[in-house]
Amino acid sequence: QLRVQNGFAPMVSDFESLWIRRLYGRIRDCFNRPITGVAGGRVSLLERFSTDFNRSFQFTGRLHNVLNLASYNYLGFAQSEGPCADKVEEALREGGITQGSTRSEAGRTMLLAETEDMVARFVGAEAALIVSMGYATNALNIPTLATKGCLIISDELNHSSLVTGARLSGASIRVFRHNNTRDLEKQLRRSIAQGQPRTHRPWKKILVVVEGLYSMEGEFCKLPEIVELRRRYKFHLFVDEAHSVGALGKRGRGICDHFGVDPREVDILMGTFTKSFGAAGGYIAGSRALIDHLRLHSHSAVYAEAMSVPVLAQVSSSMRMIMGEDRENAVLGQQKLDQLAINSRYFAQGLRDLGFMTLGDAGSPVVPLLLFNPAKIPAFSRECLRRNIAVVVVSYPATPIITGRVRFCISASHTRADLDYALEQISEIGDLLMLKFHKGVAPKA
Ligand code: PMP
Repeated sequence: QLRVQNGFAPMVSDFESLWIRRLYGRIRDCFNRPITGVAGGRVSLLERFSTDFNRSFQFTGRLHNVLNLASYNYLGFAQSEGPCADKVEEALREGGITQGSTRSEAGRTMLLAETEDMVARFVGAEAALIVSMGYATNALNIPTLATKGCLIISDELNHSSLVTGARLSGASIRVFRHNNTRDLEKQLRRSIAQGQPRTHRPWKKILVVVEGLYSMEGEFCKLPEIVELRRRYKFHLFVDEAHSVGALGKRGRGICDHFGVDPREVDILMGTFTKSFGAAGGYIAGSRALIDHLRLHSHSAVYAEAMSVPVLAQVSSSMRMIMGEDRENAVLGQQKLDQLAINSRYFAQGLRDLGFMTLGDAGSPVVPLLLFNPAKIPAFSRECLRRNIAVVVVSYPATPIITGRVRFCISASHTRADLDYALEQISEIGDLLMLKFHKGVAPKA
């Protein structure tokens, strides 16, 4: 994730660049480990090792079959077997792999139209637009929603795709402190008060951009408070639900479902299919007028390849299962949702009981654990691999230097035995790297 200061800071500062070259060159074995199978509850990885950072990486040749706590496979739909995989195989034979065309030319398949309707129903909006890449859903649609003369107010920890979209739009950008609605209100007041006289709004439009679940922090956005601010200050609200749709809420409908907020209180609901649905691509959902506008003007709709039929089959079959509309597997989707919630709470509580300092809200399927010292980051990752566990470690510049962390991604496909094994091994690593606080003494993050 990239931070924006004053809206137009360079992507990477000189210090960041030095750090990335010096540090990451030495620990590159912890990243980009080639995967040789399905990234499901377990995954096969090829071990890498780095010698000095100027040389390209090498492989030890050792293949590890590991417990996968690294992929965003929240509901376990990334597995290559089961009802969704059957639908995908069928779709591949019937619809091929590509349309060879943009959606506005010859790429709008029936399945695309049907899946867009289903997405709209799923999230509680009038209409939806599907884009074949999640990143591009933000980067190419935000410029269609805001332009020069508009103001974008963005959470400081927003994902890089949101930052790119905001920068490409040409709108003015202000950043508010992460998940701090007081600071958001301050920015709103300041922005509106710039107009003379006070009743005049100096911006063509104000767009507030937040995420439903912040994946580096495991935190939910404070949607009820933000919606209240929206009523008072009359801005447009954009919520990126990449990590919350299909993962949060009793019915898996995302952050609105979690908080019991009416989805019509959010003007633009964005999400991706790469996490909970085990597929690829993204969507924007909202009013019919909004979606008609995007279909005509968004470069992702006009100039980019339409989503391929097998991917659409994965999206629609997994979504149908979550909605309980797949009669043969009517309860499977709900079971997955319940299992994800149980697993997430069990694992996070297990880490805290062991004396680790974790971040995030209760029920988040992403559980970050603070490692503090940058030197412990590669050590943690390597120890995990040695014990057949895949994790993602994150450090500066994606996080502040002293709050480097490991992120555990929990899935409905993890069994209790998987989670217990992980907790036991992580406990040993915690002792080895002196990461634990005494029970009950871990400071609140
Ligand atoms: N938004 C957020 C909040 C994300 O975390 C990501 C990727 N992890 C994206 C957008 C981009 O989605 P995709 O990976 O599907 O391109």
